[in-house]
Amino acid sequence: MVEKENTAVSTLAQEFKLLVDEPMKKYTSFKIGGPADLLAMPKDKLELKKLLEKASSLGIPVTIFGGGTNVLITDKGIRGLVVITKYLKSKIHITRADLQGKTIYVEAGERLSSVCQFAIRHSLSGLEYAAGIPGTVGGAIMMNAGTKSWKMSDIVESIDILNKNTLAFETMGGKDLDFSYRRLNHPGIIVSATLLLKEKPRKQIEECFKENLAIKNAAQPVSAASAGCFFKNPTLGKSAGELIEKSGLKGMRINDAMVSLKHANFIVNTHNASCEDILLLKQHIQEIVFKKYQIKLETEVRLEGE
Ligand SMILES: Cc1cc2nc3c(=O)[nH]c(=O)nc-3n(C[C@H](O)[C@H](O)[C@H](O)COP(=O)(O)OP(=O)(O)OC[C@H]3O[C@@H](n4cnc5c(N)ncnc54)[C@H](O)[C@@H]3O)c2cc1C
Repeated sequence: MVEKENTAVSTLAQEFKLLVDEPMKKYTSFKIGGPADLLAMPKDKLELKKLLEKASSLGIPVTIFGGGTNVLITDKGIRGLVVITKYLKSKIHITRADLQGKTIYVEAGERLSSVCQFAIRHSLSGLEYAAGIPGTVGGAIMMNAGTKSWKMSDIVESIDILNKNTLAFETMGGKDLDFSYRRLNHPGIIVSATLLLKEKPRKQIEECFKENLAIKNAAQPVSAASAGCFFKNPTLGKSAGELIEKSGLKGMRINDAMVSLKHANFIVNTHNASCEDILLLKQHIQEIVFKKYQIKLETEVRLEGE
């Protein structure tokens, strides 16, 4: 059985010239993660489709990442094929203008920050609160990335996906998508999206963007290795960060995994933390917060791997 799996993996590796046993820590903002059996970074959606067709025919499991800024990958790594979508890019462009606003077309691998800059240049409002959120458009839609007052689902008009079961391309309207807090419940691979933005004076948009960026940079450890806010905020009452800080956990560490001194909902990798270190610290935080507040903090960061 293992031999059969190994043969399938080497067939795919050879045919598509893939990276083998590639350390995932190179592809995540946490700088953590063991090897992926195979790693691919397709340049366009047709290459992605061919790759998935072959992986499917060989029975190889597939895991998708964009910028790797919201994931924690296990020390043992990921079996099968990892696909990183960050090279799925083409020129961002305006597709429609009407009374509702203007729509723009973006491919999944485009950095969210580049889309923000495009919107500013074209006097389009709707992405000012995305200031400073790292990662790709595909990842931002999948995570329904956002802030207290804004989220991606507010601006997604439609997405184009590669259906993982049928391996066909489909378009889905934003209203039909099952978005919730930091989540889009959808098993497909996002290849591109259409975002609906509103016209506003450029100066106003730029100022709002800069203000949000400054607030974020002042409040969060943006240059440390992390995956952003580690826990989801409870629906009512104190935020996860407040609960952790008031439990006296700022600066708490297990080896090189540490609760940030700047923002308690960030776990940072100070040097060479393992996934295990992060998970032990996570568990400790959950236990202490539960003892004090009887609230079970849920993880926002996605854990992937064996
Ligand atoms: C310093 C810092 C600050 C952050 N601030 C914020 C913030 O203010 N608000 C916020 O919401 N988040 C924040 N984050 C978290 C993260 O940046 C966002 O969730 C981001 O949108 C994730 O995008 P990504 O491309 O890195 O996704 P990844 O981490 O690569 O993937 C996240 C999930 O989406 C899936 N996925 C990715 N691309 C695709 C695709 N094309 N098709 C299908 N599934 C896909 C992956 O399988 C995975 O489950 C922050 C992170 C850091 C490190």
